[in-house]
Amino acid sequence: MTDLKYISTRAAKDSAAASALGFEDVLLAGLARDGGLYVPETWPQFSADDIRAMQGLDYPALALRVMTPFVGSAIPADDLKGLIDAAYASFDAPDVLPLKKLNDGEYLLELFHGPTLAFKDVAMQILGRLFDYVLSKRGERVTIVGATSGDTGSAAIEACRDKDAIDIFMLHPVGRVSPVQEAQMTTVMADNVHNLAIEGTFDDCQDRVKDLFNDQAFRDKFHMSAVNSINWARVMAQIVYYFWAAVKLGAPDNKVAFSVPTGNFGNVFAGYAAMQMGLPVDKLIVGSNSNDILARFFASGSMEMTEVVPTVSPSMDIQISSNFERLLFDLLGRDGAACAEVLTGFRKSGKFAVTEAQLAQARKVFAGARFDDAETKAIIKTVLAETGELIDPHTAVGVGAARACKSETTAPCVILATAHPAKFPDAVEDASGQRPALPARMADLLDRPKRCQTLANNLEQLKKYIETTLG
Ligand SMILES: *Cc1c(COP(=O)(O)O)cnc(C)c1O
Repeated sequence: MTDLKYISTRAAKDSAAASALGFEDVLLAGLARDGGLYVPETWPQFSADDIRAMQGLDYPALALRVMTPFVGSAIPADDLKGLIDAAYASFDAPDVLPLKKLNDGEYLLELFHGPTLAFKDVAMQILGRLFDYVLSKRGERVTIVGATSGDTGSAAIEACRDKDAIDIFMLHPVGRVSPVQEAQMTTVMADNVHNLAIEGTFDDCQDRVKDLFNDQAFRDKFHMSAVNSINWARVMAQIVYYFWAAVKLGAPDNKVAFSVPTGNFGNVFAGYAAMQMGLPVDKLIVGSNSNDILARFFASGSMEMTEVVPTVSPSMDIQISSNFERLLFDLLGRDGAACAEVLTGFRKSGKFAVTEAQLAQARKVFAGARFDDAETKAIIKTVLAETGELIDPHTAVGVGAARACKSETTAPCVILATAHPAKFPDAVEDASGQRPALPARMADLLDRPKRCQTLANNLEQLKKYIETTLG
């Protein structure tokens, strides 16, 4: 079997194949040189029999099956198995990702039992190990630079801490991450971990990171790489749990729907990828908070940027959904030149629209709904009263979206529970009257010493800081 290749969402059709890369290069590069995101040249296929054969596998074994065609010969099977087993041994639940019945036709898939209590650990715990493995093999080092609205950063730091071949610089918007998220990032005292609080929004942080990556000389000098949600390997790791939940609910013989609280479109794009690979998914429901650019897109076909507003679900306080580019690429017939043109225009004007036909194509798969803070809190309260389950505000947006989109699907709906309620205790208490406690293993988190540097929203200052730190 020849290895799967990856192409950039911005490579012109006639040159895409020539510039295609293998798994290791895509893993280490993050963003493509032309500013695009990597996607598989073709989707690996799982037949109904392949999916049936997944029934009864534990999570690491299922992950090995789903990831193997993406990784190909880059990592021998035994080594990949070792990395996956170690990654999911860091989870504090016997099932790794427990699937719980919430109500008739409604399930919660708990993605938050990893080291930082949010779903990003599912991908990051394997990503850190993949990086370390490949870099050690090559005798190389990298500098990971990322932007976070909270959860990505802590998950990335946990994944990279104390790894010999990695330095990590993580930018977060000052004052816009929860105290628990902030503590999870800044209390890690490993020498290779550098926290930067930027005076700006999450989008500012993300833009500065993109600027750094677009500075070819700087990027090469420090062997820069990304682990934020554009890294293909993160999408790959997230595809696994769509198979996991669907198989538990009777795939390939029964269809399921998923409701996904999303900001960057990374999590829900993994569901789309699972569908392209043969998983029978009836609908992907996109839940937005007041930063509802995605919900508006699926309603109108028009992507229009507005100001970011802070909400009780801060990990979705985003107006530019980076991973949407991967879907756009498909909607545009995998024409990278067209994709680049649309996105360059979007950067300039803050909007773009797809055609009626493209919107119809997107709506066959996706539906969207949005919930403001008052609605989100009401959902937390209702779910607690109905089921006894205390959910976090991101998960609440997922529950709300599942319920709002009942007319879109008759299939059972799996809601992705993306954070532990104790990660957002103020909002949860405000909504429900109950203050969720941190798990015992991190009960003293907020009292641990912190380390963090505050910087202006300024590219030159940022570059200088990195240069000085790495000496
Ligand atoms: C990051 C995050 C999301 C959004 O994930 P995307 O990859 O941006 O779609 C939702 N909930 C929580 C708790 C998160 O940390």
